Amino acid sequence: MCATTAEEVELESSVRAFIDKPHQMLIGGQWVPAESGQTFDVFNPATDEVIAHAQSAAQPDVDKAVKAARQAFDDGPWTRISPAERGRIVWKIGELIMDHQEELAQLEALDNGKPISIARAADVPLAAELFQYMAGWATKLNGEQIGLTVPYAPGSEWHAYTRREPVGVCGQIIPWNFPLLMAAWKLGPALACGNTVVMKVAEETPLSGLKLAELMQEAGVPDGAVNILTGFGEEAGAPIAGHPDVDKIAFTGSTEVGRMIVDAARGNLKKVSLELGGKSPNIVLDDADMDKAIPGAANAIFFNHGQCCAAGSRLFVHENVYDQVVEGIADYARNIKLGPGLDPATQMGPLVSRTQLERVTGYLEAGKKEGARAAVGGERAGGNGYFVEPTVLVDVADDMSVSQEEIFGPVVTATKFRDMDDELIRRANETPYGLASGVWTQDISKAHKLASRIRAGTVWVNCYNIFDAALPFGGYKQSGWGREMGEQVLDNYTETKAVAVSL
Ligand code: NAP
Ligand code: MG
Repeated sequence: MCATTAEEVELESSVRAFIDKPHQMLIGGQWVPAESGQTFDVFNPATDEVIAHAQSAAQPDVDKAVKAARQAFDDGPWTRISPAERGRIVWKIGELIMDHQEELAQLEALDNGKPISIARAADVPLAAELFQYMAGWATKLNGEQIGLTVPYAPGSEWHAYTRREPVGVCGQIIPWNFPLLMAAWKLGPALACGNTVVMKVAEETPLSGLKLAELMQEAGVPDGAVNILTGFGEEAGAPIAGHPDVDKIAFTGSTEVGRMIVDAARGNLKKVSLELGGKSPNIVLDDADMDKAIPGAANAIFFNHGQCCAAGSRLFVHENVYDQVVEGIADYARNIKLGPGLDPATQMGPLVSRTQLERVTGYLEAGKKEGARAAVGGERAGGNGYFVEPTVLVDVADDMSVSQEEIFGPVVTATKFRDMDDELIRRANETPYGLASGVWTQDISKAHKLASRIRAGTVWVNCYNIFDAALPFGGYKQSGWGREMGEQVLDNYTETKAVAVSL
């Protein structure tokens, strides 16, 4: 069921050529190998086969990239060109992504394992949209004219104002769950605000980031303004986070590594923004429209195989409708077609790596030992690839590891509640995370009451996984610092300067 199928889309010749060529890294406008000469294997998660080799960056490569980014920031040209021209270049990146949409979707499906239908409909167009939304901000980074509160000297006059300036060299470290889209979320605003960047893409999924680097060169991003490194977290990520010439670090990934980023940033107290894990509550009230809530709650966890920081992984269902909802989601899960990402009929692909496969099946085992039961799924699925059955766990207690920890796979815990006001709110908020949440109800008053009392950066009402370039996204509590997307992301990538002029 899960090995390569005859129905897989045939890779475009340009994709085949891209995969087969030797992969290098973009540093200072040049494509270069790692100084050490070391490379690592890139896998197809549907088959466990090696499809490419990427350069394994380490400290010397990071030093070179930071130097290039520093120069491009301190001496131009990136910081010298007009905001309008900067905006045009960022817009053009979005255009080129759409010109290459099928190639990028195929690369993403092959390297990450996600269904090509999803890569085509979501990852690629949303990445393009993000660049084009951010392009508009390049010309709108306005300061303010400010009246001083006291005159300081009798009769003195003042002209005081603020300027919004780029932060400088930004280190950016991204995960593997949405390789192209996570690159866009970080590069779009950083570039629109006039920063230069050293980005490390995830070791599991380096290909679309390298393709994007080519497109950014074609769009006219000057040498050194964006540098793209491939490699492992400890060897290539940590030196970026600790680098004394990096002014800001933006990270998306696990809360555990997020803490390491904060420690590494201490040396020069670089600015830090973090988008970390989640264990998001998804709440179904007994007045919900079940035709929407059941597939909606299923999609909340099974989208991207549950490999979403925002996944609705803790399902709370009112006791009056619990059996109906659990049975409905189990039915939905039974009908999900598992297969390789490149098969257009695939609805759920493999997990991204052997490590993630072991992690997720480890949680399934632990859950069963602690007394949880799978209403559907619960096992690894066939073939050599990293497939796991979509799973609904019932008979779970709030203190089990499956209820508390981020599984990052297609596994939801379903529990009942009776009282919305106290019991439900307390349990929904009873986690160190606070990234996202969902509420399914037709009662507008209950919807808004829950929206205000859930401690999370996003509340989706009668929908889930709605991401938009204009909507800020980020975490309360241990789910992160700062917001990505929307106008709010500009705070991550600009400094505010106050200028006071005595006239
Ligand atoms: P991770 O270890 O947090 O990796 C995220 C990124 O950080 C990768 O580029 C990684 O490099 C890099 N990294 C790792 N250690 C580092 C260090 N010491 N210094 C600097 N950078 C470092 O996440 P993962 O291993 O891919 O997945 C583990 C768990 O993290 C998942 O199961 C999930 O719970 C969570 N996660 C969350 C998100 C999210 O969107 N919030 C995304 C992915 C994973 P490598 O390429 O070598 O890993
Ligand atoms: Mg990792």
